Amino acid sequence: MSIVTAAIAIILSAFAMTLIVGVRYLISSGAFALATRAVRPGLYAGLDAQIGREIAWSLASAAIYGIPAGVVAWGWQNRGWTRIYADPHAFPLWYLPLSVLLYLAAHDSWFYWTHRWMHRPVPFRLAHAVHHASRPPTAWAAMAFHPVEALTGAIVIPALVFVIPIHIGALAFVLGIMTLMGVTNHMGWEIFPRFLWRGPLGGWLITASHHQRHHAEYRCNYGLYFRFWDRLCGTDRGVGGFADGESRGGVVAGRAAARGGAGRQPGHQPPSRQS
Ligand SMILES: [Zn+2]
Ligand SMILES: [Zn+2]
Repeated sequence: MSIVTAAIAIILSAFAMTLIVGVRYLISSGAFALATRAVRPGLYAGLDAQIGREIAWSLASAAIYGIPAGVVAWGWQNRGWTRIYADPHAFPLWYLPLSVLLYLAAHDSWFYWTHRWMHRPVPFRLAHAVHHASRPPTAWAAMAFHPVEALTGAIVIPALVFVIPIHIGALAFVLGIMTLMGVTNHMGWEIFPRFLWRGPLGGWLITASHHQRHHAEYRCNYGLYFRFWDRLCGTDRGVGGFADGESRGGVVAGRAAARGGAGRQPGHQPPSRQS
């Protein structure tokens, strides 16, 4: 294969992956936005302009996620890159769930620390303010990130597949969880049964009632899937994102926060919590 043919194939792969990520976003966020209209009528009332911005930023993020994924997918198919495997018996079967957990834990750790870094004043103003412009977030905010932030998220899985072996089906499962949690955590109401986010499991798992509190109060609840880092570092303020325990709690707090001005984080915390 000549260099030109390879370059064209890589560009096509990146383009196809961008399309897949974009369409996956539109379908998943669209489906949960419809569910929201049915289950919590009026929850997104008056947020049309914000939703438009969330969709625009998310579609730009689709390209940033799609390009590295497309390049790596091409390398996997044509050059034997990555440790993605197709034969489920290449590793013991118990490794399948373990690999999923390893990917989620690695992604969660990366997210927690980059997210805390993005709450420092300069990166917040330059990049992360875009994500927090959603007050309160909606199902469309799942990928509403400034390109700099999208890039920090986009490199995680394409880098991990070079390090941690994973079956292609398990990888698809990880990406499915990533999409599901990205949408439902911003949706404005709790879709999971109460025992999951209130019970002992909820002490360790992040769902909407946890992440909503991050959007309302900013300097807490930084995690993605698990509350491990938040609890270890003293940044966990619990699942009080919704005042009524189900939805909308962040709306009031979020709108009050909005008066703090764009690009600024409200609240005054001791220096140890400022990151
Ligand atoms: Zn968020
Ligand atoms: Zn944040």
